[in-house]
Amino acid sequence: MTDPVRPGVLEQIRFLHELGIDALRLPVIAVPAGKHETATVGSLEAVRRDMGECTRCPLSEGRRTIVFGVGSPSARLMFIGEGPGEEEDRQGEPFVGRAGKLLDRMIAAIGLSREQVYIANIVKCRPPGNRDPHEDEIAACFGFLVAQIEGIQPRALVALGKVAASVLLQEPIAITRARGQMRAFRGIPLMLTYHPAYLLRQYTRENRQAVYDDLRQVKALVDQAGSG
Ligand code: URA
Repeated sequence: MTDPVRPGVLEQIRFLHELGIDALRLPVIAVPAGKHETATVGSLEAVRRDMGECTRCPLSEGRRTIVFGVGSPSARLMFIGEGPGEEEDRQGEPFVGRAGKLLDRMIAAIGLSREQVYIANIVKCRPPGNRDPHEDEIAACFGFLVAQIEGIQPRALVALGKVAASVLLQEPIAITRARGQMRAFRGIPLMLTYHPAYLLRQYTRENRQAVYDDLRQVKALVDQAGSG
């Protein structure tokens, strides 16, 4: 009898194949401890309740849905993007459009799934025309992201692109120069890498390999930190 294929494995193999990698060892997935999960589900729900039907910044005027975040409340790895796009605004979930599909493959390439990590954005409402969020919008929303991070207590963070990296580090980041750097946000290791939308626009073998290297590095760090 053959074993069923774990969801995401085929995606992982396809992405690795695109990188030119033909042989791989599949990682063992650690299941997070239930106790931690119960504690953090509660705190994430409290953060969401606090946010309410937020009107703290002008982005609330044009949004359809608040895109709070998705994934495991006890995730050991958390991805932070910029802000919802059109599809995310419609569905109420981060990274569900084209860039999101690529992010799923990037996550699968390191042996994880969307359900095992946590994904959120710097701002929770769609900026019109997908422009970068403004300072006042970021300031109004940032406390909620910090509260999400505090609730989840991930072992490491990944900043997807220039906006997330610059906001988290409070300094202007040129992502083409800074990607691959392991920095820290409030004591939590923070990997800087390309935004999947940038990767879609510049879909070169070199860029794909760079993102894969960044994610492998951060995954190794998370694994080293143990499962407790
Ligand atoms: N880009 C982002 O930064 N976040 C999303 O949720 C979708 C696209």
